Amino acid sequence: MTKTTKKFKTEVKQLLDLVIHSLYSNKEIFLRELISNASDAIDKARFESLTNKAIVSDDLKINISVDKEKKALIIADNGIGMTQEEVETNIGTIARSGTKAFMEQIKEQGKGDTELIGQFGVGFYSAFMVADHVELVTKKAGADSDAVKWSSDGSGEYSIETAEKATQGTEITVYLTEEFEEFMQEYRIKNIVQKFSDYIEYPVVLEVEREEGEDDDKKTVVKEETVNSQKAIWTRSKSDITEEEYEEFYKHISHDYNAPQETVHWTVEGTSEFKALLFIPSQPPMDFMMPDRKKGLHLYVKRVFISDNCEELIPEYLRFVKGVVDSSDLPLNVSREILQEDRQIKIIEKNVVKKVLSTLKTMKENDIEKYTAFWKNFGRVLKEGMHFDFANKDKIKELMLFETANGEAGKLISLKEYVEEMPEGQSDIYYIAGENRSVVENSPHLEAFRKKGYDILFLTDPIDEWVVQSLPEYDEKSLKSVTRGDVELGSDEEKEESKKALDEAGKKYETVIGVIQKVLEEDVKEVRLSNRLTESASCLVADQYAMDANMERIMKAMGQDMPKSKRILELNPTHPVLEMLKSTCDTDVKDQKIADYAGLLFDLALLAEGSSPRNPLQLSKKIGELMVNAK
Ligand code: ADP
Repeated sequence: MTKTTKKFKTEVKQLLDLVIHSLYSNKEIFLRELISNASDAIDKARFESLTNKAIVSDDLKINISVDKEKKALIIADNGIGMTQEEVETNIGTIARSGTKAFMEQIKEQGKGDTELIGQFGVGFYSAFMVADHVELVTKKAGADSDAVKWSSDGSGEYSIETAEKATQGTEITVYLTEEFEEFMQEYRIKNIVQKFSDYIEYPVVLEVEREEGEDDDKKTVVKEETVNSQKAIWTRSKSDITEEEYEEFYKHISHDYNAPQETVHWTVEGTSEFKALLFIPSQPPMDFMMPDRKKGLHLYVKRVFISDNCEELIPEYLRFVKGVVDSSDLPLNVSREILQEDRQIKIIEKNVVKKVLSTLKTMKENDIEKYTAFWKNFGRVLKEGMHFDFANKDKIKELMLFETANGEAGKLISLKEYVEEMPEGQSDIYYIAGENRSVVENSPHLEAFRKKGYDILFLTDPIDEWVVQSLPEYDEKSLKSVTRGDVELGSDEEKEESKKALDEAGKKYETVIGVIQKVLEEDVKEVRLSNRLTESASCLVADQYAMDANMERIMKAMGQDMPKSKRILELNPTHPVLEMLKSTCDTDVKDQKIADYAGLLFDLALLAEGSSPRNPLQLSKKIGELMVNAK
């Protein structure tokens, strides 16, 4: 192949501009990124060598050397290497959708945080922070294709051509700018490697110059020194590992720039043998909700890398957990198909779930503040387990937290606490589901419950509707929506009394309710009086098992075409508007005012629950007329 020059894709160019011009702190991490790529490439070679004998898997290492004349740092590995096509797809484009979000965040911040780099697979480009020119020569292991040389000054173009390289792997030459010549110094390199890459499983070897011999027979020789300790952190005993070491390792595998919130490290022996080191992040990663995000845990078999996204090891609802599982029982040449069926994997998964849930339980019991922070980040994901993990439902329900009507915004309580705080006479657990706190907390549906001093759970995540369906009861108390079914509150006596009052009001307002019902025939299923309201005049409710406004909103948002379900319009028998309508009705059943007011009562109920009125323009005209008439 002759040398060809190509332009970077626009997004790569933008990214490079940002990397070069905006990210200014902590430049040294470029070396961590390149070593990490090299280590990944060796992992892959080792794995591939199990089935392809042509791939070298002895003496795997990462080599760092300095070319003083060229003012360059050379990072070489004998890993999997790349074909020309792979170089162009891996290095020439940005495959991940999260990168755009990354760039936007950096632009917003005005300055960059280099620790963000690893998150979106821009690791390789970080070399351009310290270099005016980067060259990559690579030869794919086990293939007889030519080696390839890629080269760029980072300004918009790169060149690609055939190259000479005897052995498999990748060699990256970073031509340092004058400002960053410090990265050629031996102590500086050692320092960075030990700080960031000590746990890398393969030797990171630095070529150092040493003087040998006596006075007049002195000569300089090049020696290889292994800089990192190489010990896979999860194989070490817990008591020997410092918090910083855990943190560094977490950052390596997660590409997160924050310390983890919780570290869980344990060993299982017996019928199944494995070691696991898991982390709960302190922040959701930026690409958390993105579909192409890598899920699952890293899987090793006796310290041999198998996969960095083994989804079989952990259920979807714990997808925020990061970490490593190293099994002693699985075969090395384990395939995806085997993983899905494997009994050992299932045992490990069960154990992982148990451990994570018990860790969260302990966190909740010992440090509620920390747990609340966790819940705010990942609660909505964990809750999915209520629906999908039947076996652990009872554990998960104890981990759920909710905002409530009695607590200020941001204050969360558990179901257990809710029940403990229930006043005498309250026999059910009440909730309201809606779009957000401000919609639900002002809902007229809460009035009667509030008056009684009952607390109400605020379910403001779309998934909450499914969660409550999986949880009809807690502690033998039913979970009831305040926007569905009848309201019967208080002691038997109180219930009896309010029922009596309602019956009486029913008789009194029978005619007017009949008229209103006729007017709203198209819009509501029924018009009735209820004890749900104490201040507002009207609200809309669903039957016990029918779909309420929130559920309808969620289904619509999910693109489901929902048939319009008619609901029940409830009126407050103590509201003066009823008395007024009754007297109008007594004088003239056909008075237009009754129809107008019936429509208003319905529209106001829609507004109060956060829905749109039927016809905003007509509503505003009607109110205008009322204002004039009230003069
Ligand atoms: P990331 O490592 O986060 O995927 P990079 O931009 O650092 O992102 O690298 C992009 C891709 O280039 C890698 O996923 C890998 O496929 C390939 N790559 C980078 N360095 C090497 C290397 N030393 N050997 C083989 N492939 C590499």
